[in-house]
Amino acid sequence: MLILLSDAFDPGLPDKLKKYGEVTDDKGRVAEAEVVLIRSKTKVTREYIDGAPKMKLVIRGGVGLDNVDREYAKQKGIIVHNTAAASSVAVAELAFAMMIAMPNHIAKADSSMHNGQWLKKELKRTELYQKTLGIMGMGRIGSEVAKRAKAFGMKVLAYDPYVKSSDLAEMKTDLKDMLGMSDYVSLNMPLTDETRGILNRDTLAACKNGAYIVNTGRGKCVIEEDMVEALKSGKLAGFATDVWYSDPPENSPLMSAPNVLMAPHIGASTNENLLRIGDIIDELIGEYVKK
Ligand code: NAD
Repeated sequence: MLILLSDAFDPGLPDKLKKYGEVTDDKGRVAEAEVVLIRSKTKVTREYIDGAPKMKLVIRGGVGLDNVDREYAKQKGIIVHNTAAASSVAVAELAFAMMIAMPNHIAKADSSMHNGQWLKKELKRTELYQKTLGIMGMGRIGSEVAKRAKAFGMKVLAYDPYVKSSDLAEMKTDLKDMLGMSDYVSLNMPLTDETRGILNRDTLAACKNGAYIVNTGRGKCVIEEDMVEALKSGKLAGFATDVWYSDPPENSPLMSAPNVLMAPHIGASTNENLLRIGDIIDELIGEYVKK
């Protein structure tokens, strides 16, 4: 059995998987591979699947499966798994880091000091304490964000049509109502037909004036042009994003917009998460081999 590591994983993973067969990171051997391991970079499209006639198992190290044509994989009898539970803490910590960094002007404080400036008077901070956080998508990551917000003394609201109640947040059934009450908004939803462009001119207009928004979900949940308008007009105080229309972004208007804090899709990229992903992959291949 040939196992192809098509994207970047923990360096110790090939050794861990050797017990199942040959392990390679040579993408040129995809036609020989029975198990293909991907993260977000490799796109398992119809063409990719047609070019991998021996492929029986695809494992996406991470949460979203939007880079896999699951319908076509199913038709071809290919099993598709992800390692959904592994990344929650890693992504929630980045969402929270961004949420703290914006009102504390961490990026500007650092870059201005590097430029020899002393902006002590200009950089007025605001606290998270006693502010309201609205979470869009109260799943695994949203819940981890909520726990951290509670520890900071925040009031936590959440909008999720598929979650009726939560011990960690007051559930809101109307998105615009929640946005109007939230000083901070965290996007933690998957990309679906319902969530594509869910933050747009209309919903951004419903946001509280001076709100901060953090997106560690999926880039396409936000209409970038509308977000830029809301930032330029001062409606929003800041937007932090780890996720983009493409990796890396091409001609994104956010790159030159004011008050944007950017990260290169590193939500899941902690050493601990890569180890957890490796352990789950090991288990999933073990189960596949037993069948
Ligand atoms: P999850 O499935 O546990 O939670 C997603 C939640 O979104 C669910 O509770 C679901 O009901 C809710 N949801 C679905 N449609 C909705 C809608 N229309 N409005 C509001 N809520 C809706 O998934 P998770 O593990 O918490 O991950 C959430 C998302 O985070 C993933 O789908 C992925 O897009 C993103 N993610 C990003 C990174 C990163 O590197 N930045 C890493 C992992 C995951």
